[in-house]
Amino acid sequence: MADRDGFIWMDGKLLPWREATVHGLTHTLHYGLGCFEGERAYATPRGAAIFRLTEHTKRLFNSAKILQMEIPFSHAEIDAATKEVVRANGLESAYIRPLVFYGAEGMGLGAKGLKAHVLIAAWPWGSYLGQEALEHGIRVKVSSYSRHHVNIHLCKAKATGNYMNSMLAHGEAHRGGYDEALLLDREGYVAEGSGENVFMVRDGVLYTPTLTSALEGITRDTILRFARDAGLPIVEKQLTRDEFYIADEAFFTGTAAEVTPIREIDDRIIGNGRRGEITALLQSRYFDTVSGKRDDHPEWLHHVG
Ligand code: PMP
Repeated sequence: MADRDGFIWMDGKLLPWREATVHGLTHTLHYGLGCFEGERAYATPRGAAIFRLTEHTKRLFNSAKILQMEIPFSHAEIDAATKEVVRANGLESAYIRPLVFYGAEGMGLGAKGLKAHVLIAAWPWGSYLGQEALEHGIRVKVSSYSRHHVNIHLCKAKATGNYMNSMLAHGEAHRGGYDEALLLDREGYVAEGSGENVFMVRDGVLYTPTLTSALEGITRDTILRFARDAGLPIVEKQLTRDEFYIADEAFFTGTAAEVTPIREIDDRIIGNGRRGEITALLQSRYFDTVSGKRDDHPEWLHHVG
């Protein structure tokens, strides 16, 4: 990953990929207080377009606010830099990673004079869980790890340190032979995947957990907008794992995971064990929108050219 051609934007400058490095005493590396985004640019008939860039940049600034980090750039500057990175790397489609981190200005929890640094990288990245997963769905296991409690980790921040919980859960699921973990909150209700929000369909109604201990996913919001446009009944409430077991359909949403059907949870087949009809409808609307084939939300596509 570190050894490749291309450019990374760092603190206002485009640097050659191999030179975008940090010191070993980088504060965020030690204590995990930092924040980031995960965005995608898709190939469209008018060239690469970043999907919902405005919302991603806004969430990055909100994460920094929650963590009391001062980003030394404006929203407009970060938007422009994000487009510049996709352009400079000549990417038709990309995964984009903005990161805000404290540097090596000090060490210790009370370090004074820490400065928030910003880097933005972009590289080609196919479907996160595989093309096969998008069509046939994945096998999911309820995690032995709980999702963050709202007063331990602040889950509205896409904070670097929050992902230790995600990595433990993801690793456990994989080592157990599953594709992804489903995490419950501290009360035992379904929260989200290790890097995705989750939905289920039962008797034609679309359900998704309330966001108490989950990230406010931008893909989740996109899917809810599509569902509303299609006149589907939507219920946001606390959901139990056994409600998922007896659902007709279930799927994950996320920038990386896009819309991935779930075909099995805890060794119970969901619905008919294949991508469900409503999942297929929302998934195709998603891919048609991000790639500019549908233009009912032109404000969501930010062309880089
Ligand atoms: N939950 C978690 C924990 C995530 O990391 C992500 C990915 N950012 C999501 C949900 C989905 O968010 P989005 O749709 O904005 O990518």
